[in-house]
Order: sequence, then C-alpha cells, then structure tokens
Amino acid sequence: GEAITVADLAQKLAMKGGDVVKALFKMGVMATITQSIDHDTAVLVTEELGHTAVRADADDAESELLAHVENVQGDKAARPPVVTIMGHVDHGKTSLLDYIRRTKVATGEAGGITQHIGAYHVETDKGVISFLDTPGHAAFTSMRARGAKLTDIVVLVVAADDGVMPQTIEGVQHARAAGVPLIVAINKIDKSEADPSRVKNELLGQDVVAEEFGGDTQMVELSAKTGQGVDNLLDAISLQAEVLELQAVAEGRATGVVIESSLDKGRGPVATVLVQQGQLGKGDYLVCGVQYGRVRALFDENGKQVPTAGPSIPVQVLGLSGVPDAGDDFVVVEDERLAKEVAQQRDAKRRETRLVNQAGNRMEDIMAQM
Ligand code: GDP
Ligand code: MG
Repeated sequence: GEAITVADLAQKLAMKGGDVVKALFKMGVMATITQSIDHDTAVLVTEELGHTAVRADADDAESELLAHVENVQGDKAARPPVVTIMGHVDHGKTSLLDYIRRTKVATGEAGGITQHIGAYHVETDKGVISFLDTPGHAAFTSMRARGAKLTDIVVLVVAADDGVMPQTIEGVQHARAAGVPLIVAINKIDKSEADPSRVKNELLGQDVVAEEFGGDTQMVELSAKTGQGVDNLLDAISLQAEVLELQAVAEGRATGVVIESSLDKGRGPVATVLVQQGQLGKGDYLVCGVQYGRVRALFDENGKQVPTAGPSIPVQVLGLSGVPDAGDDFVVVEDERLAKEVAQQRDAKRRETRLVNQAGNRMEDIMAQM
C-alpha cells in the first residue's frame, strides 16, 4: 500500500503530530513526525485513535456490493468464539494447538483426505470453539491492519519454566490494541522447574491480573505435552465467550475472511476461509478480494466435504478464479455478474495503485541519488 508521513496523517485526522507519534509508540512503532508509515500501520493507528479509516473512493460495483451485503442482514444468533494463540517462541503454541487438534477435533469419516488447514473447530460439552492455527504475531497484526477482525479471544501461552518474555509482552499489547480479551495458558507445568506463581507475578508487571489476585484475567495451568489442564482451558474459553455474547447472522448469504490460500496442482486455487455471517454453501457465487467464482466444493478440517459452513466455522473453498490473499474478505452475491464486476474493478484499481507506487519509488531513488 501507499505510505504517508505522520504529519500528513495527523493533518487528515485534525490532530497534533505528537499525539499520533505517541499512539504509534504505544503500538510499538517508532516514528518521528517527518517519517513515513506504511498504509497498514496508518489504518491501524487511525482506528487506534478512534477514527474510522475509509477508502478514498467507492466504485459503482463496490457500492452495489455494499447494498447487497446490507440487504441480507437477518436475525442474529449466538456464534462460537474464534481463538488465536500467542506467546513467546518455544513456550508451546504449536504443541498446544496440536494437542487440541489431535484429541478434540471430531475425526472425519475414514477415507477423508487429511489436510492441515489453517484453522479448526472443536466441539466441547460447553459449545463449539474455533482455533486459528496460524500463530504468529505478524499475521495477527497484518490481518487486523487489513480490517479483518477475526479473533474474539487471545490465548497467551507462557511457559512456567521461563516466565514472561518479550513476545509475551508483545502478545499482551496485540490483544489490548485489538480490544480482545486474554486468557493466559501457563504451560509446561509437567516440568520440575515450572513455577506458575512466578508467571502470575511477572504478568502483574504488564497489568495482567489473575482472578485470584482480584483481576479479571483467567489463567489456566496446563501441559501441552501431557494434556493436563487443557480441558480447563477450553472451559475458560467457553466462559469468556459467554461473557462476550458473540453473535452473527446465522442464515442467508455468507460473508467472511480468507485465512490462508494456495494454488493446488490438481484442485486449482484453494482458500481457507472463516465464515463470519450467514451460510456458505456449495454452488454460491462469491467475490473474494480480486478473485471471484462459484463454490465447487467445501471441505472441513478433516478433508471431508461439507455442504455448508456457518458463522465462526473455517472451511476450505474450491472454485475461485485465482488465489486470494490472506486477510481478503469474501461476500456471497446473487449472481456471477456482480461477483465478476467487483473483482475486475478491484483488480484494475490494484494495478493502478501499483503503477503509482512504482513511479513514486523511482522518484525516491532519483532523489536519493541527488
Ligand atoms: P512454540 O514455538 O511456542 O510453537 O513452541 P512449541 O510448541 O514448538 O514447543 C517448544 C518446545 O517445548 C518443544 O520441544 C515442545 O515439545 C516443548 N513443549 C511444549 N509444551 C510443553 C509442555 O507442556 N511440557 C513440556 N515438557 N514440553 C513442552
Ligand atoms: Mg510454533
């Protein structure tokens, strides 16, 4: 995307440059008033400051699409929480996700093509929970920068034998910036060096206060290796979800976000999407970033074909014209015409922006040589 100087952004927001610098600093971005920040960061800080970032112009097809989305809004119903796992490297994020996947995901029918897709959902006796299997703070930030508010709850994994480390603090900051509640998973309690109370005390320094200390953060001691305490974590997530009263339009045409995508030799473009509203079904026409298409098949996390997917459920989609980007939104539309028009208009606009950027870059090169 395009870059903007902090001073220009401040002017657009009718704010003091220093206040924007401060807000950036809180987000962990060091920039002076005269420095440029990239488009994603500009969008984030704008929203951080309580403003809404709006695209400079909306095209005809885009407004038709918007009207279309507004028209399908129906009754809301409770939906499952979507959880992202964060934490310092080696504290056990992957192990925890793997343990839950291995032991809690309802297995598909025999013969299903087991594929590791970037998200999965589990059914517990307290309800369904979806996990985004893409740990990585950068992925979280860039999704958010693109306007994709995917995550309802952050599970912060802290190894009980290592304590609070830089990426632990980063995780706390990401969750705060996104306005998403935290649940702390104090991991590796099977180890003899484990010291959970040390973790709780260190987290106090980040203003993350355990319930037993009078705070409002649930903390669960567990082992991703033995599985001890993992059920307690799932319960804590369900409890937090209840408090959040998460809702979505359950029926009607679907909207959602791309979590990951690839080009499969045999199957063509494949996108794992998270449905956010409505029901995505086989045969639906959709526009997805600059791509469009008709859903040829849907697969769950077990590689099993499913007819539909509802809110908070991740699903693999076949049938797109090309590979969309992670973070792209998708919208199901009535017919192919609108899907194609929107996609083509977006594509044209993207090329245009790219050309402008390239010209800008060349100008900078020339200036740099002067
Ligand atoms: P990540 O970098 O946060 O994804 O951490 P990993 O899941 O890759 O785990 C890092 C290392 O810690 C691996 O060697 C894991 O086997 C180990 N590990 C993770 N969870 C536990 C646990 O609960 N107990 C023990 N003893 N080891 C663990
Ligand atoms: Mg990992």
